[in-house]
Amino acid sequence: MQSIIDTVGNTPIVELQKIRPSSTIKIFVKLEFLNPTGSHKDRIALYMVKEAIKKYSLKPGDTIVEASSGNTGISVAFVAQRFGLRPVIVVPEKTSKSKVNILKALGAKIIKGNENPSSKNYYIKLAENLARKHGWVFLNQYSNQANALAHYETTAKEIWNQLDGNIDAFVMGVGTGGTITGVGKFLKERKKNVRIVAVTPKGSFLAGGRGKDRIEGLLSTYIPPLLDRRVIDRIIEVSYKEAKEMSLRLAREEGILAGISSGANVVASLKIAEELKKGNIVTIAADSLLRYLEEF
Ligand code: PMP
Repeated sequence: MQSIIDTVGNTPIVELQKIRPSSTIKIFVKLEFLNPTGSHKDRIALYMVKEAIKKYSLKPGDTIVEASSGNTGISVAFVAQRFGLRPVIVVPEKTSKSKVNILKALGAKIIKGNENPSSKNYYIKLAENLARKHGWVFLNQYSNQANALAHYETTAKEIWNQLDGNIDAFVMGVGTGGTITGVGKFLKERKKNVRIVAVTPKGSFLAGGRGKDRIEGLLSTYIPPLLDRRVIDRIIEVSYKEAKEMSLRLAREEGILAGISSGANVVASLKIAEELKKGNIVTIAADSLLRYLEEF
């Protein structure tokens, strides 16, 4: 009998039927919101928690802490509970209510921090300080190599097999950079001329701006140490408005109920499609529209 943990990964990939510029271009979306807690972060939570258990000889009852805009927190809470560990999740104040409520439902202890890196309560720093103070293990998805490894060993391999290696571009929004780093590395090792495209909120630090616009899950005011910029060929900026409109189009025209960062991924995929003219573009639906009901 399978446990719920064994259902992480092996998500389906679908081809957009209506949202596409021409019949010579195909855009494929990997439906990561079909993971057990509803995002691609189940994969990395499993990798990071298993590694922490081994490295720090964690026992049931021990506490692990993670800083997250929500999805990783939910996945870590889910995996931690399965291994008998106590999850403490530090989220930025603006994290959507739905995500905070799911964290509560999963029994996580929630601490609110600030999203501004210069604040003394910056949520990543706060998680680090709490871990030091209480002797907890801080997973730190923003620099933990197990994050990128999870995508290298699972997400990327699945995409490669699902498309028999016929991939011309991979498009993904940058949060921790774990997905684009892991998948980008895997694809480039197999196909030199594949284009790896990073998606970022308009005017983000990564795009050389000041980080005013905000798309939940993507970082606008911080470039995470985990992100391997060598795998990135292009950076495309997308506004919150464009991303949100596209997630509605995905729901109405394709029946794909994906979140706002997924909308941003598809906006950027269409831009790449215009340039490529033909070929296969792959992108990710990281989480579900159901996580943003209050925004719609
Ligand atoms: N979209 C959403 C909704 C996310 O929560 C995240 C991760 N914060 C991403 C995209 C980006 O994924 P990664 O952290 O692997 O760069």
